[in-house]
Amino acid sequence: MNVLVINCGSSSLKYQLIDSYTEKVLAKGLCERIGIDGSMLTHQPEGKDKIVTQTDMPNHTVAVELVIKSLTDRENGVIDSLEEIGAVGHRVVHGGESFAESVVINDEVMKAIEDCNDLAPLHNPANLIGIRACQELMPDVPMVAVFDTAFHQTMPKKAYYYGLPHEYYEKYKVRRYGFHGTSHSYVSKRVAEILGKDYGSLKTIVCHLGNGASISAVMNGKCVDTSMGLTPLEGLIMGTRSGDLDPAILGYIAGKENLTLDEVTNILNKKSGVLGLSGVSSDFRDLEAAANDGNQLAIDTLDTYYYRVAKYIGAYAATMNGVDVIAFTAGVGENNITGREQVVSYLGYLGADVVPEKNNVRGKEQVISSDQAKVKVMVVPTNEELAIARETVRLV
Ligand code: AMP
Repeated sequence: MNVLVINCGSSSLKYQLIDSYTEKVLAKGLCERIGIDGSMLTHQPEGKDKIVTQTDMPNHTVAVELVIKSLTDRENGVIDSLEEIGAVGHRVVHGGESFAESVVINDEVMKAIEDCNDLAPLHNPANLIGIRACQELMPDVPMVAVFDTAFHQTMPKKAYYYGLPHEYYEKYKVRRYGFHGTSHSYVSKRVAEILGKDYGSLKTIVCHLGNGASISAVMNGKCVDTSMGLTPLEGLIMGTRSGDLDPAILGYIAGKENLTLDEVTNILNKKSGVLGLSGVSSDFRDLEAAANDGNQLAIDTLDTYYYRVAKYIGAYAATMNGVDVIAFTAGVGENNITGREQVVSYLGYLGADVVPEKNNVRGKEQVISSDQAKVKVMVVPTNEELAIARETVRLV
C-alpha cells in the first residue's frame, strides 16, 4: 500500500509518499508560503531531480491538490491516480492526555485534537487544516493521526507534574507532555533491533538533537521521562529556543526591556538558544566554523549546549538507576562528530566512551563506543515519516 505522510504547518506542508511493502520513499516534497505571496512547491520523485514550481497556493486545500497533481503527473509523477494512495498519515503535534497512541481519524478525533489547540496554538490548528484539506480531496481514503506527544503518555506523574498549584493541572492540564515522540519511539525501538536485545528490558536514553532538541528516558519499552514540557520550550538549549531557565527571568526581562510576557516568550522561542547566546547562528555548522575561527562566544555556546545535554543524561541515568544505551539522532546528533565526543566526555563515570574511528560517521547507524564500554553509545538516524507510515498501516 502507498501511504501519503503529511506534516502540515501554518504556511507549509511537507509530504512523502511511501510504499509500505518496500518502505521506500517514492516521492517527497514541500509546499511553502501557503496563503502568502510567492508560494512554491518543491517536488522530488525518488532518483530524479527536484522540480520547483512557483504557483499560487491561497490555502492548504489548493496545496494538497497540487501535491496530488505532482504525484500523478505524467512526467514527474510516481503513481497513475489517486486510487493508488491507500491511506494518509498525519503528524499531529499535541494530543494532550487524550491520545496515548495513534488513531484512525473520525469526527470525534477531530474534536479531541481541536480541544488541544490551546496547548499548541501554532501547530494543532495547522495540523487540522491539513487533515481537512486531505479529507476534502480524498474522502474515501482512511486517515491516521500520529501524535508527537503520544509516546510520552506513559510518563509517571512524578515525571510530568510541575511544582505548581494543582488547580492549574485540574483546570488547564498544565503538566509536562514532551514532544518528538515519534522520533524517540522509532530510535529506541531501532536500538533494540540493531543490538538484538529485547526492547522490553532495555534502558535507553535517546538524544534527539536537531533544530528543536529533546532527550527521553525509555525503560522496559516505555518512556519514563523527557525533557520537553507543556510546550517544546523546556529542556535542552536548542537552535533558537532557550530550554530550561529560572521562570522569574520572564518578568525580569519584561520589566527591564518594557516588553509584554508574549513578547518575552517569543524571544525565548525564536531568538534564544545557540542563536541568541552566540549571536552567530542557530545552525551548528556555522557555530563550529565560528568556533574554529577562534570566536570565544561560539566556543562557550557549544560548551554550554553539550554540558546541558550531558546533565540530562546524568539525570536520566540516575532516575532509571542505570542506562544500557545512549543514542544520538536528528541533524546535530547524527552529524556532529565533535558534539557527540564532547557530550560523552562527561560520562566516563557511567562507563560510556567514544572511539574516534567509530565516531567518524554521519547519518549512519553505528555503535561508536568501545567493545568493553558498559554503556553502548550509538548513532541512530531518525525517520519520523517512516514511523508515521508504519503506524498508519498498522491502524488501517
Ligand atoms: P534537524 O532539525 O534534525 O533537521 O537538524 C537541523 C540541524 O542539524 C541544523 O540546524 C544543523 O545545526 C545540524 N546539522 C545538520 N548537518 C550537520 C552537520 N553536517 N554538522 C553539524 N551539524 C549539522
